[in-house]
Amino acid sequence: MRSVGCILPNMPLHGVLAAVWLFAGCTDDFNQHLAYDYLGDGVHEVRPVQTPALTDVVRVDGELGPATVGGRVLDVDGRGIWQDGAPVTLDYVVDDGVLVPLDDQGLMLLSFYHHLAGARDDVAARGWQDDMDAIFPVTAIAWIPAQMADPTGPIENALHITEQTLEVSNFSVFVLLEDANDSIPLAGHAGIARHEFAHAWFQVLMRPLFNGNRVIRDRRALNEGFADTYAILSLDDPMAIDFDGRDPRLPHTTDAYLESEDPYELASVFAAFAWDARTLSDDADRTLELTIAALQDFSDFLSFPESNETTQQFGLMLYDQYATEIDDPALCEMWLFRFPDLVGRCGR
Ligand SMILES: [Zn+2]
Repeated sequence: MRSVGCILPNMPLHGVLAAVWLFAGCTDDFNQHLAYDYLGDGVHEVRPVQTPALTDVVRVDGELGPATVGGRVLDVDGRGIWQDGAPVTLDYVVDDGVLVPLDDQGLMLLSFYHHLAGARDDVAARGWQDDMDAIFPVTAIAWIPAQMADPTGPIENALHITEQTLEVSNFSVFVLLEDANDSIPLAGHAGIARHEFAHAWFQVLMRPLFNGNRVIRDRRALNEGFADTYAILSLDDPMAIDFDGRDPRLPHTTDAYLESEDPYELASVFAAFAWDARTLSDDADRTLELTIAALQDFSDFLSFPESNETTQQFGLMLYDQYATEIDDPALCEMWLFRFPDLVGRCGR
């Protein structure tokens, strides 16, 4: 039950309300905040959670970087520069030790921060602390209200953007676009948060791709495929990205998507083959580790200037990594099914 007396002094308070607050003897102490939490099987619920990475919950600031409202990329002499938005100060009440944001913006920023911190801690615990130190803190986690969104911009609900030169990344920003469809709050979605997180990680894992001169075909599909793969394996849930037909249990194959301009389609083949390996091994954690190893193999492969680079060949490296631990003819069957135009494995 919400106690009206617990409205905090940082909100506009008038005499009567202040008297109620004092009279009620309320405390503004909280050790949890409301957020969209993921229950599995595609189901989210708003409930109290803890996010230790949020060192300043009210300003939505902490170890991952600061949240902002607004912000945009400016073109300065052909170079992208991130122009900061405004700092955040949540409107909220405290109810029984739980910070309750009073608007959608607050709930989304807290939810995204919570999911992002979970992904970072998960990956650090698996031994990739250095990669996490390379990603965080980011420049900003920016909430873009609908009226500020660029109408010519990409049709996305959340994204990770960056501009990287040979040596440095000038900025790294998670952008959360206010969701027009209020039935699926995507910025509060655990699978989407992990997907966007994985784009930031992909950039660290695949340095050759971002060093300017290593252009491969369909690199976007590789990036999106890794992002979906990380989401489904780290949550160990094929429903983690439960829309746009991206369920990894569907019969995604490369030949169906050869003419496609949509990078998510080829991406879905990589994620589906990863889920095949997870199903055969019954081990999501190990499958994720092997997928990272395959990505590093692909990164090494790109360092040969004469290599004939197509993203599909990532399918070979996935097979080779999974085959080191999955001794089951079904792995070959799934590989032949998913990648009908690749040769060099499984008798083809
Ligand atoms: Zn993506």
